[in-house]
Amino acid sequence: MSALQVALEKVSLVIVGGGPAGLAAALEAQRQGLPDILLIERDMQLGGILNQCIHTGFGLHYFGAELSGPEYADRFSTAVTAAGITCLLDTHVLEITPDRILTILSPQGIRKIAAGAIILAMGCRERPRGALGIPGTRCAGILTAGMAQKLLNLQGLMPGRSVVILGSGDIGLIMARRLTLEGAQVEAVVELMPYSSGLTRNVVQCLQDYEIPLLLSHTVVETHGRERLTGVTIAPVHPQSQKPDLEQSRFIACDTLLLSVGLIPENELSLGAGVRLDPATRGPRVDQSLATSQPGIFACGNVLHVHDLVDDVSLEAEQAARSAVAFLKQVPRPAPQEEGNRYRRSDPVPAIVPGSSTGQAPTLPVLAGPGIRSVVPQLVRRDLAPETIRLAFRPARVYRSASICLRDDHGQLVLKSQRRILTPGEEARLEIPASHWPDPVTSHWQLSIEV
Ligand SMILES: Cc1cc2nc3c(=O)[nH]c(=O)nc-3n(C[C@H](O)[C@H](O)[C@H](O)COP(=O)(O)OP(=O)(O)OC[C@H]3O[C@@H](n4cnc5c(N)ncnc54)[C@H](O)[C@@H]3O)c2cc1C
Repeated sequence: MSALQVALEKVSLVIVGGGPAGLAAALEAQRQGLPDILLIERDMQLGGILNQCIHTGFGLHYFGAELSGPEYADRFSTAVTAAGITCLLDTHVLEITPDRILTILSPQGIRKIAAGAIILAMGCRERPRGALGIPGTRCAGILTAGMAQKLLNLQGLMPGRSVVILGSGDIGLIMARRLTLEGAQVEAVVELMPYSSGLTRNVVQCLQDYEIPLLLSHTVVETHGRERLTGVTIAPVHPQSQKPDLEQSRFIACDTLLLSVGLIPENELSLGAGVRLDPATRGPRVDQSLATSQPGIFACGNVLHVHDLVDDVSLEAEQAARSAVAFLKQVPRPAPQEEGNRYRRSDPVPAIVPGSSTGQAPTLPVLAGPGIRSVVPQLVRRDLAPETIRLAFRPARVYRSASICLRDDHGQLVLKSQRRILTPGEEARLEIPASHWPDPVTSHWQLSIEV
């Protein structure tokens, strides 16, 4: 049989990605009684990005213990293996169609799988140098902070001796400390914004404790060096226009520039499946059940929105799994084929459940109002049983002593929560109790920050 004529296999639930989101989703789906679950991971091992995060700080909320990344991942991957959940490693999902047919590639070849439901858990990737447009040669010594972390923590390779870090995202902050502990000189962390884009605890524990300078409202305007980086020119930027003041630029000698300038959810597969994305999060638009715009396709973890804490990823993934199992219970399962667990491409796709994630269900949009950069979920399904809705959102700037306000389309206050500090570096949350369920005439909710 040629690669183009591969038989179609059938699985109830396929989970794409074996990081913390995929692992927690697989375990929860099994706890919900689903027998056939397939988890697909392109790497050679389960655990996702956690495998290279050898620092502690994971699991404080979920396990009540301070674990390293590999320890946190190991608790889940051991449970997944013990539960007998089928995991395909070294296997790439190449394509997902809107009718939930996956094309996967492994050393054994190409397979096609028809899934009753799919959970997207592909994580995110780092913004590369090309996205920044910094003038300079393409010399060695310029790499993303995550790549440096992988080289150092997984392969024992030191990326450089004197380092400047552009961007104060968590990976950059953690690498500043890690490189210092390994004997490198971290000259400065240079941040475009007037605030750090990482967690406060990381600014304190990774920079201040090691006296590493954090230069806010600064950027790198040029890199120098032919074979290897010899230094960077930095300059202060105007807080509003963010234009660099070149007259105040200065040279910092260094052999390595690490980029920690943001993460991009990996949604190429989602787009191919016809899933609608939110321009603010760059992840799928979802309702409170984490259903995307495509029926039977759910999303969780960093592919949905960039999380600060893995504990939140695990809890969100469990919600996605419960929703996927509920979806499968409503959808008539295709009759088994004679040849074992297979059906043909021409077989009808399971019917769309009325009121599922198809866009046919009555929904209430949740809008990001003044002060809010992004909010998840973006929709509330009115036909689901009222329960606590957890909004995750990023403030657009730093606020001190501010209120998070949820208002209806008439500007009436639905819920208000006072916060001491809100910063874009820390994803914030607002719980809306079931008692505040929207009435049928409300056309939307808007979340905003008011001072
Ligand atoms: C440097 C760093 C430090 C951090 N520090 C902390 C911390 O101290 N405390 C904390 O709580 N959190 C921390 N986090 C955050 C936490 O690690 C992440 O939120 C979490 O790993 C996200 O989980 P995920 O499963 O969504 O994504 P990932 O861990 O990225 O997993 C996604 C998986 O999907 C796979 N995949 C992608 N596409 C495909 C495909 N097409 N086919 C098959 N497989 C695919 C990938 O190979 C990967 O294994 C840190 C993150 C980083 C990067």
